Order: sequence, then C-alpha cells, then structure tokens
Amino acid sequence: MSDFKKLRNEMVETQIITRGISDKKVINILRKIPREKFIDKKFIEEAYDDHPIPIGENQTISQPYIVALMTELLRLKGNEKILEIGTGSGYQTAILAELSKEVYSIERISSLYEKTKKTLQELGYKNIFLFNSDGSEGLKDFAPYDRIIVTAAGNEIPQPLEEQLAENGRIVMPVGDRFMQNLIMADKINNKLHIINYGAVTFVPLIGKHGISI
Ligand code: SAM
Repeated sequence: MSDFKKLRNEMVETQIITRGISDKKVINILRKIPREKFIDKKFIEEAYDDHPIPIGENQTISQPYIVALMTELLRLKGNEKILEIGTGSGYQTAILAELSKEVYSIERISSLYEKTKKTLQELGYKNIFLFNSDGSEGLKDFAPYDRIIVTAAGNEIPQPLEEQLAENGRIVMPVGDRFMQNLIMADKINNKLHIINYGAVTFVPLIGKHGISI
C-alpha cells in the first residue's frame, strides 16, 4: 500500500502550488483530507494522480487541481453557507466543510448519494447536509446561499440557482455544451450577476430540469 500522506504532499507541491494556487487555507486542507478514502479500491493507487478518476455510474471525482481552483475561486472566510450541486464522491464536499460554516450538497444518483453519505459520516462531518434530488433546481428550503458551486456542466447558470444565491454571493460553475465548457465565477451585485471566465474545462453534464440540453 502506498504512503498516501507522502503522495498527498507531492500532489500539493507538483499539481497545485506550481499551477498558481496560493490560498494557504486551500493548500493546507488539501494536505489534510485523505483523498484515497473517497476513491474505489480498484483505483486507490491513482488517488493522487493528476486526472479525474471514475467513481461509478459513469461519473468522476475531479482532478485535484480543478478542485483546488474552484475552492480558491469561492474565496471562503469560514462563515459561509454553501450549496454544492454534484456531491459525487464527497471529496470536494469535505474540503468545503472544512473551510465554511455549513454545506448543503445535492447528488441526483441514489447509489452515489448513499455511498458518499456513509463516507462522510465515517469521517465525522457534522456540518454537511446531503440531499438526493435534482440540484439544477437548487434547494429552496435553505436559501439564500453565500456560495454555490456546481461540479457538473450546464449550458448556463440555472435560474433557480441564481435566485437562491444571496446578494454579494458568488457562484462557480462550468458553463458550455456537453463537450467543452468554461469555468465561470459570477458575483451577485445589486441582484445582477457579474461573470468572469477562467478558461476551458471538461466536466460531466448537469442532468435535470435546468440542466444541459445541447
Ligand atoms: N465534486 C465531486 C467529487 O469531488 O467527487 C465530483 C462530481 S462529478 C464531476 C459530478 C456529479 O454531479 C456527479 O456525481 C453527477 O451525478 C452529479 N450531477 C449531475 N447532474 C446533477 C443534478 N442535476 N443534481 C445533482 N447532482 C448532479
């Protein structure tokens, strides 16, 4: 079995810091969270490799750098209420939970939801609330959210998510078509979204009522 702590530190040095991630809190959390615990046994030796990894149901855990970049873009101070769409393995969820007040996370595939619920319970997280539903509709009951992160690609920011984002809140999400997207960050100021594009990325599609159609 590999020395995961060593691999984790190497990942941070060679994939994260060298690519320009500089938020110390993000870097420290990546050094702490055991990514191997979110990965199926058959891929465990690849846990810290520089690419996405299958998590079942044709879904993937994102490449470590993309997780770090999206987290850094959220610019968390520690007191935020976050909505995450696309729980997947729960790795990104755990990172968010360490850096904020609470995380509401939605996964549409029941088997992933059940599996990840167990993983996050075993790791002892008390500020993560998981839901098995269509995240493209958001989660109205607990809105508004200071931050929203979507880890699946849509053609645009779903209207319900825009509505559920708090004033001065921020959303980070891949937007494009099924084959290629741009990572965008949008701040809600005076009830209007101000968008910045962070370049090309590739994500699995956001499936649902306000999800991808082309
Ligand atoms: N952040 C995850 C991680 O760390 O493992 C990776 C997520 S994976 C790239 C995208 C996830 O979004 C998949 O698990 C997929 O089932 C989920 N998804 C797609 N459409 C969704 C929707 N409408 N609502 C909730 N989850 C959705």
